[in-house]
Amino acid sequence: LSRSEITYWGAGPALLPTDVLEEAAKALLNYNGTGLGIAEHSHRSALATDIINQAKADLAACLDIPDDYEVLFMQGGGTGEFSAAVYNFVGAWVVRKYKEIFGDVQGDAADHPELLEKLKQAVENELKVDYLVTGGWSQKASAEAERLLGSKHVNVAADARKANNGKFGIIPDEGSWNLSKDAAFVYYCDNETVDGVEFPGFPKSLEPGPDGKGPIVVADMSSNILTRKIPVKNFSAIFFGAQKNLGMTGITVVVLKKSFLPPSLSQPPVALLRTLGLPVPPIIFQYETIAKNNSLYNTLSIFDVYVAGQVLKKMLRTYPNKVEGQQAVTEQKAELIYGAVEAFPEVYRVIPDKTARSRVNVCFRVTKGGNVDASEKAFLEQATAQGLTGLKGHRSLGGIRASNYNSVPLEGAEKLANFIRAFATS
Ligand code: PLP
Repeated sequence: LSRSEITYWGAGPALLPTDVLEEAAKALLNYNGTGLGIAEHSHRSALATDIINQAKADLAACLDIPDDYEVLFMQGGGTGEFSAAVYNFVGAWVVRKYKEIFGDVQGDAADHPELLEKLKQAVENELKVDYLVTGGWSQKASAEAERLLGSKHVNVAADARKANNGKFGIIPDEGSWNLSKDAAFVYYCDNETVDGVEFPGFPKSLEPGPDGKGPIVVADMSSNILTRKIPVKNFSAIFFGAQKNLGMTGITVVVLKKSFLPPSLSQPPVALLRTLGLPVPPIIFQYETIAKNNSLYNTLSIFDVYVAGQVLKKMLRTYPNKVEGQQAVTEQKAELIYGAVEAFPEVYRVIPDKTARSRVNVCFRVTKGGNVDASEKAFLEQATAQGLTGLKGHRSLGGIRASNYNSVPLEGAEKLANFIRAFATS
């Protein structure tokens, strides 16, 4: 098969723009006439720093990231960030509590046993991290928080399954969320890749008040970053692996509010964390270490940053209104697919509720003739024969999943919509 014969709908890693890959292939052999491939140049070279800084600037331009945010390139994937979010924001909570309790008191915490005891009690009784569990990925993230902190510190403020017959597929009504008073953070996954559930927009109850103050919000945008405009200023951190809408597998991006970094805030000393019985972050997951070193604390794949940078440059060239231009296309493609599926209610059934269904991971069942297994098998075989590949749903959910990422062209979505209609009427 040639590349041009297929439209790939896999959930990740995803399709990359062919022109970006063609240029990247040349850069792997000889970057900018240096005679050395880009993956062979030192990550400490000026050339590598330029690539990092340019990618940061282009990401900021695409997403309108304000100046008081830092962009970090990390490793360990979205999964690594499940842990990193806990370490860093629990650390920030401890620093805040320490300041409240110790005030201007100087010297070592151990020299003030009564204040230290107060801090221990605060950690014991008040430390909470809040999770909105709306699908498999936020569930995994909350499980990691429980593993690191113990379940008493983890407050599942909402669990979509409770309001939906034990299954994911909705966003629970905000009125039912049980948010903690002073959580170290509120965590949610903006788009649940497996379950096809997406928040329609930024949750009203997490919005900052008129004074600009609000909860500390951390969001996983691994599968829908760069598919719509987002109010970055409402978040303390947004993270995503590059491998769906940005670039290749290998780098993870964190957009972090600078007030969580020095000089505003430094993570607590290791000795204090030990005294308090809290986990000590591996150095590679400590945001301030990564920020201080402009993402080069250790060897970073500059090739992956370069590819992401080229994808961002392409977005800026293609859409003068940046991510909003991409958003319009994403929504046009999603409407084509959902429109085709919904035109045949006797043949297809969209899995998530309409109020929460994802524009990015379109999940549906094929119920034609009553034999779901056989009709889905036939659907997938016939789709593959027409070059529409990667449509099999996640093993935990079954069915069909069309991952409508940025590199899937509009013509690809038209082709899939035509196939969905043709299969229904065949
Ligand atoms: N979060 C979401 C929403 C995902 O879709 C994924 C992977 O598909 C992850 C987290 C985990 O990312 P990684 O495989 O990069 O660790």
